[in-house]
Amino acid sequence: MQSKLPHVGTTIFTVMSNLAREHNAINLSQGFPDYPISSKLISYVNEAMLSGFNQYAPMPGLPELRAVLAQKIERLYQATMNPDTEITITPGATYAIYCAFTAILQPGDEVIVLEPAYDSYIPNIHLNGAKAVCVALQYPDYSVNWQKVKEAISPKTKAIIINTPHNPTGYVWTADDMKQLDALTANTDILILSDEVYEHITLDGRTHESVLQYEGLRNRSLVLFSFGKVFHATGWKMGYCVAPEPLMKEFRKVHQFVGFTTNTPMQYALAKLLEDENEYLQLPHFFEKKRDLFLEMLSDLPFTIHQKSQGSYFQLAGYEKINDMGDKDFATWLTKEIGVATIPVSAFNQDGRDDKLIRFCFAKMDSTLHAAAERMKKLLTL
Ligand code: PMP
Ligand code: GLN
Repeated sequence: MQSKLPHVGTTIFTVMSNLAREHNAINLSQGFPDYPISSKLISYVNEAMLSGFNQYAPMPGLPELRAVLAQKIERLYQATMNPDTEITITPGATYAIYCAFTAILQPGDEVIVLEPAYDSYIPNIHLNGAKAVCVALQYPDYSVNWQKVKEAISPKTKAIIINTPHNPTGYVWTADDMKQLDALTANTDILILSDEVYEHITLDGRTHESVLQYEGLRNRSLVLFSFGKVFHATGWKMGYCVAPEPLMKEFRKVHQFVGFTTNTPMQYALAKLLEDENEYLQLPHFFEKKRDLFLEMLSDLPFTIHQKSQGSYFQLAGYEKINDMGDKDFATWLTKEIGVATIPVSAFNQDGRDDKLIRFCFAKMDSTLHAAAERMKKLLTL
């Protein structure tokens, strides 16, 4: 059989988490928290199940959840989105990315991807017979080179996929970045897929810039969010897509035949928890403490921090003081020999570009971060 994805292997998250398990390493690779989620949220799920919310939810999602999300979007981003026609609950953001690309792409279309990029984007573009046109973000801060983005636009450009706060680099877009994107796409038919799953994890007083805040961008965007990141529950695979009605209509045509709908009791629980905005507004403070603790530990170790994470729950680090291996070899070596698993950043570059950086996930209990730092002290004795 001819493969639809001949160049795709196993995702780096599976590779590194498996290696961590095999070698009993502390897993700072795949992005998931290791601390408990809200017990209130769990009791709301139980309550929903016991009250009989166990059958299919409506295809676009529970009305209560869509309503509370519309209010949140209005409050945070001053955008009025109709919960009936412009918000759809999905089984995670990765699923929504697939549906969004499938809804908009025709064979031969081009999509501009800023690399390093979350590894699901390009395979989803290829599955739809379209081409990824990659533009490198600028080492070492990984800001956007807007001139290069401009040069990458062609008559075939159907969409640009953006991600802020950015995985894996921790770069957070500025208002100027949004204005540049707006200027480049105004008066064109270019659509935007905006991956904003880390919307609530902006650090050091930064605020999240959403495409939803900019009218011109909002009218051409499908915006993807994930409850997994907001409520520390990545295993729930719950997310949503927000888009203007004409785009959402196409998105739902795909969604109704891929998943049809999303887990009912969890939607019920999320709607209830979201009534309290403190549940997510305290996240910058929570993650800033973790990032700072982790950076303090790294400062005693032979890593180079080119830039403090501005957002997301990832921190990049250089290891040139330790050895000159490629990043994949280094991450494998660190897992096997030191007992700490990380993600090599080149896995997020289609051409394998290797800036010799690894990505640490600091969404971990303080004791896990301490234990990892303790193991990495061995690096000082090599
Ligand atoms: N986008 C980015 C940038 C991510 O890091 C992740 C990580 N999980 C996702 C999308 C997917 O979110 P979900 O788990 O809800 O599919
Ligand atoms: N988003 C997570 C990360 O970047 C993992 C998602 C996945 O395993 N597919 O680590």
